Amino acid sequence: MIAFSYAKAEDAAAAVRLAGADAGGAYLGGGTNLVDLMRETIARPTSLVDVTGLSAAIEAQDDGGLLIGAAAKNTAVAADRTVRERYPLLARAILAGASAQIRNMATVGGNLLQRTRCYYFYDDAARCNKRTPGAGCDAVDGFNRIHAILGASPACVATHPSDMCVALAALDATVHLEGPDGGRALPLTALHRLPGGTPHIETELRPGELITAISLPPLPFAARSTYRKVRDRASYAFALVSVAAALDLAGDGTVRDVRLALGGVAHKPWRAEKAEAALRGQPATEAAFRAAAEAELADATGLKDNGFKIELAKRVIVATLNELTGEAA
Ligand SMILES: Cc1cc2nc3c(=O)[nH]c(=O)nc-3n(C[C@H](O)[C@H](O)[C@H](O)COP(=O)(O)OP(=O)(O)OC[C@H]3O[C@@H](n4cnc5c(N)ncnc54)[C@H](O)[C@@H]3O)c2cc1C
Ligand code: SF4
Repeated sequence: MIAFSYAKAEDAAAAVRLAGADAGGAYLGGGTNLVDLMRETIARPTSLVDVTGLSAAIEAQDDGGLLIGAAAKNTAVAADRTVRERYPLLARAILAGASAQIRNMATVGGNLLQRTRCYYFYDDAARCNKRTPGAGCDAVDGFNRIHAILGASPACVATHPSDMCVALAALDATVHLEGPDGGRALPLTALHRLPGGTPHIETELRPGELITAISLPPLPFAARSTYRKVRDRASYAFALVSVAAALDLAGDGTVRDVRLALGGVAHKPWRAEKAEAALRGQPATEAAFRAAAEAELADATGLKDNGFKIELAKRVIVATLNELTGEAA
């Protein structure tokens, strides 16, 4: 048995103070990922600071954006009327993930920081640089059907598992943090890291930093947005490839603006900036969507078992954009 202490924080300041007392401690959201990792002895925190008592409010902001407390349950965010009306891609991304029971437990903060689903990471008999820096990576030459095609390194080819983060990347969400040295904010797209030579360092968080909230900017055209996820089973499965997209069409049918992000393809939620740049000002046609997808995936590299994801990602981008223009998808 691995012993650990438990304390529940009443607010962010108390959480940071409690966490600061133990360098081996961890924040506990709904526990749907962390407790699994503790059960498998992959994570061994010496203390847990329960942060489910922090703000769970979902509040419209004066600028037209939205502020969502880190303790908000995934279910509550997906069901929120403002989210469904103004940011439907976010509601759809959340509902595409996990099961109703897990979404009822899982918090926004925990969803952002859930760990990869690479099988070798969860198998302590396997070599994994993320678990044990310098150990090697059994996924590179192993069974790597679910692994990365963009931004990977020889040290790690894992993907980021969150559906919600893909929608947040497309929406230019901001992550609000509180830490021992005070508060700060980071763009969601800057929170997670590519693996490089240090895949065990997964985010830009400083020691002891707590996620207190995320905010969404006003983005009126996000009312025309969606999330499409391709997976091996109809439910209860992580994305092979997913696409979050919002589209702004001018009266003449050209693309005035667009937001695109991909899931299941990289170590972080992948904002598809090349595809976005290729699309702006173009007619919203299937040919333009395909050209944008080709531009985004030009640097993609397949492994032994996951080369199919490159063409799949292109097709899902095209199908998602077709859906948003009202074409048959
Ligand atoms: C069977 C199964 C299927 C799943 N399928 C999907 C899926 O298809 N798509 C998907 O996106 N997800 C899926 N999930 C993952 C699920 O969404 C995550 O487990 C969940 O979102 C994690 O949230 P939590 O609050 O339970 O986090 P926890 O397990 O409590 O914490 C996760 C991590 O976040 C840290 N943390 C928690 N809150 C904070 C905070 N406020 N500040 C700083 N650090 C914090 C913890 O220390 C820990 O490292 C699945 C999970 C299971 C078990
Ligand atoms: S891909 Fe990354 S997480 Fe998976 S075994 Fe290799 S180093 Fe570990």
